[in-house]
Amino acid sequence: MNATNTKLLVVITGASSGIGQATAKLLAQQGHPLLLLARRMEPMEALKLPNALCRVLDITDRKAFEAAVKEAEEKFGPVDAIVNNAGIMLLGEIAQQDPTQWDQMIDVNIKGLLNGVYSVTSGMVQRQHGTIINVSSVAGRKFFPKHVAYTATKFAVHGLSENLREELSGYGIRVITIAPGATETALLSHTTDESIKSDYQNWKQTMGGVLSSENVANAISYAYHQPQNVCIREIVLAATRQGP
Ligand code: NDP
Repeated sequence: MNATNTKLLVVITGASSGIGQATAKLLAQQGHPLLLLARRMEPMEALKLPNALCRVLDITDRKAFEAAVKEAEEKFGPVDAIVNNAGIMLLGEIAQQDPTQWDQMIDVNIKGLLNGVYSVTSGMVQRQHGTIINVSSVAGRKFFPKHVAYTATKFAVHGLSENLREELSGYGIRVITIAPGATETALLSHTTDESIKSDYQNWKQTMGGVLSSENVANAISYAYHQPQNVCIREIVLAATRQGP
């Protein structure tokens, strides 16, 4: 372990954009060494964060995930926390959407997130210490039009996080769910149905603006930086004018 690091290693998935990128910047400012993971290297390297190991990773690749964590731990010491943030949202009406889009969301938002959990949990159990932060959504608590498969993945994140806490709390490991409402990021851009995208943009305008990535990063940091014996189990945050 690098003796000059007083802060501990945090792994962040989806660090190339949006909420993951804002979280990486904030935790770097706070002095944490970081393992930043995403499929695109360039936006992560462009952050030029100190003590940040950037690795190209598709989180659906479990072995590559484990290898990246091992490499970061050799450099910075044991993982103290993981922010399982990477996710995709492909909105669509169930009868019309290409079902391969459901597969992609299930693979990334559920199985990919579980790979993150898996990559850090045995070490945390051994050390009887750690924090797992899972980024879900308000859509993990309630439903929205044309969100069926996405909502299913986020209800899964809420459910598995609750069960994980039940399983890991006895080892001193905190499990925290962060559930943002609409946030200004690239998330919507991957939806292929143009009319759904335009309706969503209009909905955002009715709120007079949505959350920023920094708003969500602040919530993540707040929950993480509580004393280790305090587990903020869930933070649900949304723009004040977001009704549903
Ligand atoms: P962005 O699209 O801006 O960022 C998503 C990130 O996930 C990117 O860094 C992307 O990196 C990464 N990612 C996607 N697929 C994979 C993959 N297979 N392997 C590795 N990384 C991947 O969206 P947000 O910042 O908004 O999304 C972050 C999280 O917040 C998601 O889980 C999302 O569901 C959740 N959320 C977002 C809300 C919003 O309104 N924006 C509201 C509620 C929740 P790359 O493409 O380089 O791989």
